[in-house]
Amino acid sequence: MKKKEFKAESKKLLDMMINSIYTNKEIFLRELISNSSDALDKLYYLSLTDTSLKVNKDSLEIKIEIDKEKRTIKIIDNGVGMTRDELETNLGTIAKSGSELFKEQNDKQKDMEIIGQFGVGFYSSFMVAKEVEVLSRSIYESDANLWKSSGEDGYTIESSKKDTNGTIITLYLKDNTDDNNYDEFLETYTIKRIVSKYSDYIKYPIKMEVEHEEEDKDKKKKTVKKEETLNSMIPIWKKKKSEVKEEDYNNFYTDKFYDYEKPLRIIKSEVEGLTSYQALLFIPSHAPYNYYTKEYEKGLMLYSKGVMIMDKCADLLPDYFSFVKGIVDSLDISLNISRETMQEDRQVKLIARNLETKIKKELETMLKDDRDNYVKFYEAFGEQLKYGIYSSYGMNKELLQDLLLFYSSKEDKLITLSEYVSRMEGDTIYYASGESIDKIKMMPQVEEVIAKDKEIFLLTNYLDEFVIKTIGEYQGKKFMNVSDTNFDLSSDEEKENLKKINEENKDLLALMKTVIDTNVKDIRFTNRLKNHPVCLITDGEVSLEMEKVLNQMPNGEKISASKIMEINEAHPISKKLQELYKNNDKETLEKYTKILYQEARLIEGLSVENPSEVANLICEILSK
Ligand code: ADP
Repeated sequence: MKKKEFKAESKKLLDMMINSIYTNKEIFLRELISNSSDALDKLYYLSLTDTSLKVNKDSLEIKIEIDKEKRTIKIIDNGVGMTRDELETNLGTIAKSGSELFKEQNDKQKDMEIIGQFGVGFYSSFMVAKEVEVLSRSIYESDANLWKSSGEDGYTIESSKKDTNGTIITLYLKDNTDDNNYDEFLETYTIKRIVSKYSDYIKYPIKMEVEHEEEDKDKKKKTVKKEETLNSMIPIWKKKKSEVKEEDYNNFYTDKFYDYEKPLRIIKSEVEGLTSYQALLFIPSHAPYNYYTKEYEKGLMLYSKGVMIMDKCADLLPDYFSFVKGIVDSLDISLNISRETMQEDRQVKLIARNLETKIKKELETMLKDDRDNYVKFYEAFGEQLKYGIYSSYGMNKELLQDLLLFYSSKEDKLITLSEYVSRMEGDTIYYASGESIDKIKMMPQVEEVIAKDKEIFLLTNYLDEFVIKTIGEYQGKKFMNVSDTNFDLSSDEEKENLKKINEENKDLLALMKTVIDTNVKDIRFTNRLKNHPVCLITDGEVSLEMEKVLNQMPNGEKISASKIMEINEAHPISKKLQELYKNNDKETLEKYTKILYQEARLIEGLSVENPSEVANLICEILSK
């Protein structure tokens, strides 16, 4: 029998397929099962119009048989089958578009999941098989044909016999190598795993004989073979919400997404129109251990017609909602989609946009009706929302700002910006930031605000202040750090008084300034402190907290906040300084200044710059 060559294009493609190294060879089974499922579909639809075809819908099925001795896998269906001509055209060429895409992709061989995104179909069997036989009988013929190929060197077709319509594909597995153990595909559990991973929702049963241990009458164990259906057929997201118990959704989530806790929220969405899809999304109750690292991969599972085409489709989720898990099933997405074409795909974009709105709505509902869980959510993923605002330079602020929570000094819990604004007076939203709530509450400036019965946000997350700066203004209200030089709650009279004090002590302050000239921009007396002798405030964009954060960043430029030291004019230290100045004791005044400045740094949670010098100075003064 004469061997026929594959068409030139197919040949090249086949060659690439066989000789490239892919990690997920297992998808060959998905492709063959999908083909069988298509063949069953075709038969069923033909039977709707052609009454001569007697088809019992319940008999349509796919079977998998493994033979360990012969090292073969058979995929069997009772679908439409193929005529000789069809075998020739269908299996002798590869769809052109598919091959183009494949070539494009193949330049980047490092992308391991390459095949996972293609409907390269039938040819993927050559990744695991050294020889493939296709025995097929068309529904319209009584004879069958056998197509055979061992890859690159072409194929043969000969007449054959088969009792019923349909197709039997036999794969003769490749020999094992050091790198590849093809025998694994002869294990029942491997087949079960692959079917449930990719083909669980194929709507026809996928059956296989599976060995079970049973006890006979005499309690002797023996192995019996039983036919099992490997796929669950109807995906949970295709079932009506009323038909599914919450527990089923939860189990589905924990199984599919390897979580040990049930999700906080389940989002179900079904859309028909410009694009049609079903989505089943989950908001986890806690962040995965690697969530805030580079290792974490966002994405939703993408299915097309019940077949999984991508495990983690990143383009369906914006970064700020990267915590969402779930599944999207769409008729409109082609099996041929790749990671590269994904971003360009209109359908994917449309679905992604819809889902974003849906997720946002769900979070808003949770915030409104289920506050405790929302706080739980926020504690796990709030940082990601903040990052979403900050990293987009505020582009997403309208979308995300109302989902943020900050700690309120008044309520001692997390509240929203709108809750703050709803009960505020004036047009300034106050905040202070530091390491912990307790530490911030003890900050001199904060004490003053709380004493005056004003609400203030206490910010402890390193991103908080950056986010607030990015938001800039909320409902026309400006934000102000109480450590900022512009912050002033005093009355006009108090202001006037203070001005006078500073004026009178101008020379003293100027002298002190020369001592710590490189560290501070200014030194002055203040009336805002209660018990503390000194404090540091900042002038300009960078606050002390921001300075700390920025300077911790690897490779970041060292950044310094513009600092002003304020001395409590009502504190005894103030009199002492004035006295030293009057007595012209410059030397002691210098020492006092150095100590006071380091003390101010300590109060603000900054480190002492030159500990041993300061320690010696303190001791010297104590000894006097
Ligand atoms: P695709 O499925 O993407 O069209 P394939 O290379 O997987 O590409 O298959 C090529 C064609 O071969 C199919 O479109 C179909 O017409 C035919 N075919 C493959 N497997 C079967 C089968 N089990 N029964 C009937 N026809 C099949």
